[in-house]
Amino acid sequence: MAMGFKKENSSAELKSIEVSLKQAEDMKKDMIYQLGEIFYEANKDNESVDEIYKDKVDTIRKLEYNCKVWNNRKLKTQGMRMCENCGNTLPYDSSFCNKCGYKLKAVSEELVII
Ligand SMILES: [Zn+2]
Repeated sequence: MAMGFKKENSSAELKSIEVSLKQAEDMKKDMIYQLGEIFYEANKDNESVDEIYKDKVDTIRKLEYNCKVWNNRKLKTQGMRMCENCGNTLPYDSSFCNKCGYKLKAVSEELVII
C-alpha cells in the first residue's frame, strides 16, 4: 500500500476528516445565514440599499408578507385572526383586540406576486 498506510487507519482518518469537513461546511452555512438575517434586518426598510442586494431584500420582504397572509388564511380556517399590534389571536369578526385594545384593520388575504 502506498506510503505504508494501513487500510483501517486511513478509513478511520477519512471518516474523521469527513465529519470535520461537514461540521465546517454546516457552520459556514449557518454563519452566512446569520449574516443574511442581520443584513436583511438592517436593510429591509432601506430604499437606497445597494443595487446588488436590492432584489433579494425585496423578495425576502415579499415572502415575509406572504407568510403573514398564509398565517392569516390558516387562522381564518379556525375562525380566528391575529392582532397586528400585539400578536394576540382573536375571533375572526372582532373589531378590537381584547388584549391590547387595538382597533383591528381588515385582514390581509391577498398574496403578493414574487
Ligand atoms: Zn392586540
